[in-house]
Amino acid sequence: MLKHILSLSPDALATDLSAAFPAYRAKQVLAWIYARFTTDPDSMTDLPTEVKEHLKQNYRLELPEVDARLLSKDGTIKYRLKLADACLIEMVMIPEVKKKTLCISSQVGCSRACAFCATGKAGLTRNLFPEEIIGQFILAARDLLPNRITNLVFMGMGEPLDNLDNVLFALRTLQAEKGLAFSPRRTTISTCGIAPGIRHLADSGIKTKLAVSLNSAESETRLKIMPIEKLYHLNELKQALLYFRRKTNFRITFEYILIPGVNMSYEDIRALSRFVNDISCKINFIPYNPTGVEGWSAPTKTQIDDFLQKATIIKQAVTLRKSRGADIQGACGQLAAQVNQTERLS
Ligand code: SAH
Repeated sequence: MLKHILSLSPDALATDLSAAFPAYRAKQVLAWIYARFTTDPDSMTDLPTEVKEHLKQNYRLELPEVDARLLSKDGTIKYRLKLADACLIEMVMIPEVKKKTLCISSQVGCSRACAFCATGKAGLTRNLFPEEIIGQFILAARDLLPNRITNLVFMGMGEPLDNLDNVLFALRTLQAEKGLAFSPRRTTISTCGIAPGIRHLADSGIKTKLAVSLNSAESETRLKIMPIEKLYHLNELKQALLYFRRKTNFRITFEYILIPGVNMSYEDIRALSRFVNDISCKINFIPYNPTGVEGWSAPTKTQIDDFLQKATIIKQAVTLRKSRGADIQGACGQLAAQVNQTERLS
C-alpha cells in the first residue's frame, strides 16, 4: 500500500521529491499542501504533468471526505467526516470576531467512557492516523479562507493521549515552519487525565498547552463520572501535572463541567480550591450540555451564578465557557458522529 502524502513530514516529503525533481518542485508541492491547503495534484496548476503524475502514482492523497456540514445559528460549523475506511468522525469550527477555533478529533470514538460525554457511549473503534489529524486541519483551513484558523484544540472525539504518537507526529507537521507553521501557544491538547501520557507529552519536546478535564477534585465523585480516576488517581494526576509544568512552563487549564446535583456544592468548590492552589493554572467552568444521562440536566443561570459566586474562594483565574453549536449537537461532549440526527445542511 502506498504511503499517504501527509504521513511524511514536510522535510521527508521534500527529500523524497528532490530525488526525482529539482528542489524547487518540492517547494511548490509543499506550498500547495500547507499554504493553499490542497493535496489534489490537479489543482496544483503551476506543476508540469510529470510531477502531478508522480504524486498520483507514489502517494495516497485523499483527505477526509465531508459527509455533512452543519451550520449552527451561532455560526459554529460542525463537519461530519468520512474516512477512507468509512469510519465517521466530527470536527467543529467555532468562529468569534477575532478568534477562529478549530476543534479536532484524535480517535474514532473513545474508550474512556466518561459518564457525561456522548463520544464515549459507543466505545473506541480506532486511533486516527497522522494524516487524518492533519487532514482535518487542512480541510477546515481551506473552508475558512480567506480567514485563518487562530486556535487549535484537541477537544473533539477521542482521548488524544491514548493516541499520543500520532498526535505528536501531527503536531510536528502542524508546527513545522515548512508545514503549517501553527503556533504552539495557540494549540491545546485536552485530556481526561492519562497521567503517563502527560509525562510523555512533557518529555516529547513538543510544545503545546494542556487542558485537563477534571470535573471533580473529590476522588469519590470523580470516580462516579470518570472511570479514568480508577486507573490514575487524582494524586497521580497532580504529580504528572506538576511534572508537565516543571518541564514545559506552559500553564495548565482545568476544565470543570457543571452538573447540578453532582459537583456543584460548596464542598466540591473547596476540594477544587485545595487541588489547584499550588499549581499555576486557570479553571474553565463548562455548563453541562445534556447528552441523555438520566436525571442530569444543564445548570440554570441561577445555579451557575450561585456557583461562580461561591467559587470566588479559588485564587486562580476562572472563566466560564460559552456553549456554542448546541443546536447542531456540536457543543462540548455532544460529538458522536450519528447519521440519523436532524440536520441543516449548508
Ligand atoms: N478526551 C479529551 C478530549 C475530549 S472532551 C478530554 O477528556 O478532555 C473535550 C471537552 O469537552 C472537555 O473539556 C470535556 O470536559 C468537555 N465535555 C465533555 N462532555 C461534555 C458535556 N456533556 N458538557 C459539557 N462539556 C463536556
